[in-house]
Amino acid sequence: MKDLKIEYRNDIMKFKEPEQPSHPVTYDPVAFKKEKEKSRRLRQSAWWKKKRSSGICHYCGQKFKPSELTMDHVIPLSRGGHSSKENIVPCCRECNTKKNYLLPVEWAEYLEQLRSDEKG
Ligand SMILES: [Zn+2]
Repeated sequence: MKDLKIEYRNDIMKFKEPEQPSHPVTYDPVAFKKEKEKSRRLRQSAWWKKKRSSGICHYCGQKFKPSELTMDHVIPLSRGGHSSKENIVPCCRECNTKKNYLLPVEWAEYLEQLRSDEKG
Protein backbone atom coordinates (compact mmCIF):
# COMPACT_ATOMS: atom_id res chain seq x y z
CA MET A 1 0.00 0.00 0.00
CA LYS A 2 1.23 3.35 -0.90
CA ASP A 3 1.31 5.85 1.82
CA LEU A 4 0.57 9.13 0.28
CA LYS A 5 1.41 12.07 2.24
CA ILE A 6 -0.07 15.22 1.13
CA GLU A 7 1.25 18.29 2.63
CA TYR A 8 -0.89 21.23 2.70
CA ARG A 9 0.75 24.45 2.93
CA ASN A 10 -1.29 27.16 4.38
CA ASP A 11 -0.34 30.41 3.06
CA ILE A 12 -1.75 32.61 5.66
CA MET A 13 -2.09 36.07 4.48
CA LYS A 14 -1.84 38.60 7.15
CA PHE A 15 -4.13 41.45 6.73
CA LYS A 16 -3.62 44.49 8.75
CA GLU A 17 -6.95 45.98 9.36
CA PRO A 18 -7.11 49.71 9.24
CA GLU A 19 -7.55 51.21 12.64
CA GLN A 20 -11.08 52.35 13.07
CA PRO A 21 -13.00 53.84 15.88
CA SER A 22 -14.44 50.74 17.53
CA HIS A 23 -17.88 52.20 17.71
CA PRO A 24 -19.33 55.55 16.95
CA VAL A 25 -19.08 57.58 20.08
CA THR A 26 -22.39 59.01 20.96
CA TYR A 27 -21.54 62.38 22.27
CA ASP A 28 -23.93 63.45 24.93
CA PRO A 29 -23.18 66.99 26.09
CA VAL A 30 -25.30 66.59 29.20
CA ALA A 31 -23.55 63.42 30.31
CA PHE A 32 -20.22 64.98 29.39
CA LYS A 33 -20.90 67.95 31.61
CA LYS A 34 -21.94 65.64 34.43
CA GLU A 35 -18.70 63.66 34.15
CA LYS A 36 -16.70 66.87 34.13
CA GLU A 37 -18.47 67.95 37.26
CA LYS A 38 -17.75 64.59 38.87
CA SER A 39 -14.06 64.83 38.11
CA ARG A 40 -13.96 68.31 39.59
CA ARG A 41 -15.40 66.91 42.79
CA LEU A 42 -13.02 63.96 42.75
CA ARG A 43 -10.13 66.37 42.42
CA GLN A 44 -11.05 67.78 45.83
CA SER A 45 -11.42 64.39 47.42
CA ALA A 46 -9.09 62.79 49.94
CA TRP A 47 -8.90 59.84 47.60
CA TRP A 48 -7.33 61.92 44.87
CA LYS A 49 -5.03 63.80 47.19
CA LYS A 50 -3.73 60.53 48.51
CA LYS A 51 -3.32 59.12 45.05
CA ARG A 52 -1.46 62.16 43.85
CA SER A 53 0.75 62.30 46.92
CA SER A 54 2.49 59.16 45.71
CA GLY A 55 4.01 61.45 43.10
CA ILE A 56 4.13 58.68 40.56
CA CYS A 57 2.91 59.15 37.03
CA HIS A 58 0.60 56.31 36.09
CA TYR A 59 2.05 56.05 32.62
CA CYS A 60 5.80 56.57 32.71
CA GLY A 61 6.18 55.57 36.37
CA GLN A 62 8.51 58.45 37.17
CA LYS A 63 8.36 60.39 40.37
CA PHE A 64 7.22 63.98 40.41
CA LYS A 65 6.15 66.59 42.86
CA PRO A 66 2.49 65.96 43.62
CA SER A 67 1.72 69.47 42.40
CA GLU A 68 3.15 68.57 39.01
CA LEU A 69 0.77 65.72 38.48
CA THR A 70 -2.48 66.26 36.69
CA MET A 71 -5.65 64.27 36.75
CA ASP A 72 -6.06 62.14 33.68
CA HIS A 73 -8.94 60.06 32.40
CA VAL A 74 -7.54 56.81 31.04
CA ILE A 75 -10.48 56.66 28.65
CA PRO A 76 -11.10 60.30 27.79
CA LEU A 77 -14.54 61.65 28.55
CA SER A 78 -14.86 62.59 24.92
CA ARG A 79 -14.54 58.91 24.08
CA GLY A 80 -17.18 57.78 26.49
CA GLY A 81 -14.99 57.42 29.58
CA HIS A 82 -16.32 58.13 33.03
CA SER A 83 -15.12 60.10 36.00
CA SER A 84 -14.77 57.02 38.12
CA LYS A 85 -11.89 56.11 40.38
CA GLU A 86 -11.02 53.29 38.01
CA ASN A 87 -10.68 55.68 35.12
CA ILE A 88 -8.75 58.44 36.82
CA VAL A 89 -4.99 58.37 37.27
CA PRO A 90 -2.23 60.79 38.18
CA CYS A 91 -0.30 61.79 35.12
CA CYS A 92 2.77 63.96 34.57
CA ARG A 93 2.65 66.91 32.22
CA GLU A 94 4.75 65.26 29.58
CA CYS A 95 2.55 62.18 29.39
CA ASN A 96 -0.55 64.33 29.50
CA THR A 97 0.59 66.38 26.55
CA LYS A 98 1.61 63.29 24.62
CA LYS A 99 -1.70 61.65 25.30
CA ASN A 100 -3.51 64.70 24.04
CA TYR A 101 -1.77 65.06 20.76
CA LEU A 102 -1.06 61.46 19.86
CA LEU A 103 -3.60 59.26 18.16
CA PRO A 104 -4.89 56.49 20.43
CA VAL A 105 -2.81 54.00 18.41
CA GLU A 106 0.31 56.09 18.77
CA TRP A 107 -0.33 56.53 22.46
CA ALA A 108 -0.59 52.74 22.85
CA GLU A 109 2.72 52.42 21.06
CA TYR A 110 4.28 54.99 23.35
CA LEU A 111 3.12 53.05 26.42
CA GLU A 112 4.42 49.86 24.89
CA GLN A 113 7.78 51.52 24.45
CA LEU A 114 7.84 52.73 28.04
CA ARG A 115 7.23 49.21 29.21
CA SER A 116 9.97 47.70 27.13
CA ASP A 117 12.34 50.41 28.34
CA GLU A 118 11.67 49.34 31.89
CA LYS A 119 12.55 45.74 31.14
CA GLY A 120 15.67 46.52 29.18
ZN1 LIG B 1 4.48 60.44 32.88
